[in-house]
Amino acid sequence: MSDIDSIPDASEHSRPVWNDGQILQINEIFYSIAGEGARVGQPTIFVRLAKCNLRCFFCDTEFDSFTEMSLQEIIDEVRIHTGEWVSLTGGEPLGQNIAPLCEALRRLGYRLHIETSGSLPPQTELFDLIEHWTVSPKRKRVVEGFERITELKYVVGKAFREDQVEEDRSELIYLQPESSKPEYIHKALEILQRHPTWRLSCRIHKMLHLP
Ligand code: SF4
Repeated sequence: MSDIDSIPDASEHSRPVWNDGQILQINEIFYSIAGEGARVGQPTIFVRLAKCNLRCFFCDTEFDSFTEMSLQEIIDEVRIHTGEWVSLTGGEPLGQNIAPLCEALRRLGYRLHIETSGSLPPQTELFDLIEHWTVSPKRKRVVEGFERITELKYVVGKAFREDQVEEDRSELIYLQPESSKPEYIHKALEILQRHPTWRLSCRIHKMLHLP
């Protein structure tokens, strides 16, 4: 399976569960730096939501295991760390009802970032809560419903085609070589010559062996 158009849905077991948002399935909460895209280098507390609606062949994130945590338990663990930014990632964070958590984190003064595949429509109330939207498309088109997309980040692998980049959806376009393989770094650099306003995204947390 290598065609961007044929990324399959996850099995029933791996799909996120929707509820009232008072209990969320959390894979892990940890402190690191943002390693990709426009926020690179910023100290960040990551909340990794469990489960994903897709099953990408190149996915290197273990997100199926989880702990069910109340909002207070999540907040208590976030507050163990010192930081300005909280990043909601996954898995697919838009697969769970994260609006109550985002409201609670904003009340505490955190700035919020989300990383999503853009394959599920966002809750509209999230646009007043989340400041930085990273959409990393895994299918041909990002679904409708995004009021704004801060940055679009494409994984450049064998099947990536530059004509699938939705330039009209964001001012910031990043190309990220799949698994930092030399052939995909070369492919990204070659494409960037034709699109000088696009940027290369490197996963610096991987280079620095950070989580
Ligand atoms: S959308 Fe992201 S988290 Fe989900 S399977 Fe694909 S790469 Fe992994």
